[in-house]
Amino acid sequence: MALKYTEIGEIKKKINRAKQSFTKRQFELAQLKNGQKEDLRFRISQLNKLYYALKDNEEEIVLAMQKDFNRTPFESVCLELVPLYGDLLKLIEILPDLIKDEKIKESSPIFGLSKVKLQRIALGTVLVISPSNFPVNLAMNPIAGAIAGGNTVVWKPSELTPETGIVLERILKNCLEPGLVEVVQGAVPETSALLKSDSFDKIFYTGSTTVGSIVAQEAAKSLTPCVLELGGKSPVFITENLSQDKLRKALRRTFFSSFASAGQVCVASDFVLVHESQYDAAVKISKEVLQEMWPDFNDKTDFTHMITQRGYEKTRETLDSTRGKKFDTCVPGYRGEDRVIPPTLVFDVEWNDPLMKNENFAPVMPFVKYHNLDDAIDLVLKDHDYPLALYIFSTDNQEIDHIMRRIRSGGCMIGDTMIHVSAKDAPFGGIRRSGYGNYHGKWTVHAFTHERTVIYQPYFTEKIAKLLGPPFGNKKLGI
Ligand code: NAD
Repeated sequence: MALKYTEIGEIKKKINRAKQSFTKRQFELAQLKNGQKEDLRFRISQLNKLYYALKDNEEEIVLAMQKDFNRTPFESVCLELVPLYGDLLKLIEILPDLIKDEKIKESSPIFGLSKVKLQRIALGTVLVISPSNFPVNLAMNPIAGAIAGGNTVVWKPSELTPETGIVLERILKNCLEPGLVEVVQGAVPETSALLKSDSFDKIFYTGSTTVGSIVAQEAAKSLTPCVLELGGKSPVFITENLSQDKLRKALRRTFFSSFASAGQVCVASDFVLVHESQYDAAVKISKEVLQEMWPDFNDKTDFTHMITQRGYEKTRETLDSTRGKKFDTCVPGYRGEDRVIPPTLVFDVEWNDPLMKNENFAPVMPFVKYHNLDDAIDLVLKDHDYPLALYIFSTDNQEIDHIMRRIRSGGCMIGDTMIHVSAKDAPFGGIRRSGYGNYHGKWTVHAFTHERTVIYQPYFTEKIAKLLGPPFGNKKLGI
């Protein structure tokens, strides 16, 4: 089915519907004696409906991703849907406690007789812009967060995964209250119209660092706060003290993330820095591991395609321009059709090689040999600082701490890669160039609410109130 972009004139109407629906809802809740309870009931019921609608339509969703980029059904379910279901259930479980007003014990004497509380209020109408590589999870997760926070939403799916965008739009329309989530389909002009509309109380953007910067600059014009979930080159360190057995495990766990969904994962291990003492063994073992993972890669192998033709060509060009380096693919000489790039290891890569410039975002794994750990860290800091993830395979705790202290990253895994994103009770997010703002677990609710301090001041404290104001004439400050 062809994706129809939302007409520019229609975008304003959709924004207004979402905004009016928020205002109307606040007004209605304000009329109720038990408004807070009713508000929670509504949010939970919408989240439940979303959860069951996604589960009920799982087959169609998986098929849509298969049509969009031949995403293998196993990866769609295992990497995208199962973590999403877990996040939704967690949100439903923790929401009642999280949005309760919190009593604050305030120690300033001036508030000794006051009631002080923290109230987590809805922001209003939130814009969610989602990427192509996890077109379900990275859209539905923030949308659910926005609903949990009591907001209404305008959602802009990625135009690069049109089938998934169409299916999800229909699911949302059928399962949620009208006006809660408005969908704007489109590409750059439509997204620009949304960003320029100065209509949102927050923007939650997931995508590339380049576009993230455009979003943040546009948002800054109207002081709209953003959460930016961006990309980058996440390094893997394999240091000198691993046994052969641990080295094999390290390489397998590294390849899991560099080749999952054809490497189009924001927290994919992007390149591996291997200590020279391990290098030859790493080359030998990694070829064996690749063979184990794909013993017979051919045209029928269930392997996710590159999402775009441009991404496919760019990767081919970069691989071609690294001619002379030692390659290993599970199918030597194979030049995939249909946007297929087989898992490819590139050995003896130097820091200045084209493969080391930008996020690979492809099933390509460059190996860089290092002699001195601090020199290797310096290179990361110079060119790819603030990665979204940092992965370390080492058994020396001091060395692990040393790497972690020197490289600031969004997240960090020691002894594995990528799966930290599925932790339901821990925050996920980038740092500086890999983005800002966290979500998952209680951080999702924090991302979509404002913490308001509310103080009830009794009238009988008039004496204190008078002390603070004029006339100042004969008042003493006590200094
Ligand atoms: P992208 O930045 O091209 O697109 C993301 C969204 O931005 C889409 O909805 C798109 O329509 C919109 N967009 C594109 N160009 C725009 C422009 N000039 N102005 C306004 N809007 C524009 O990203 P993508 O290719 O879909 O996704 C891949 C990138 O996203 C990778 O860099 C990856 O690392 C990153 N990513 C990050 C996370 C995270 O959680 N940190 C998760 C997934 C992907």
